[in-house]
Amino acid sequence: MELLACPFCASTNVGFYEHVYSQHFSVMCNLCSAEGPRRISHEEAGRAWNRRVQA
Ligand SMILES: [Zn+2]
Repeated sequence: MELLACPFCASTNVGFYEHVYSQHFSVMCNLCSAEGPRRISHEEAGRAWNRRVQA
């Protein structure tokens, strides 16, 4: 899945983050540490992130 740039700092240095204990995934910006919505799968987390960027 292709992730859109961070809506806050416009960085494309974004990646998936796994919340080990809560077993959730999210997309996180490696530059400003912005975090997208947490979802139960990589795909859902990526979709949620991209939706937020476009909103
Ligand atoms: Zn950012």
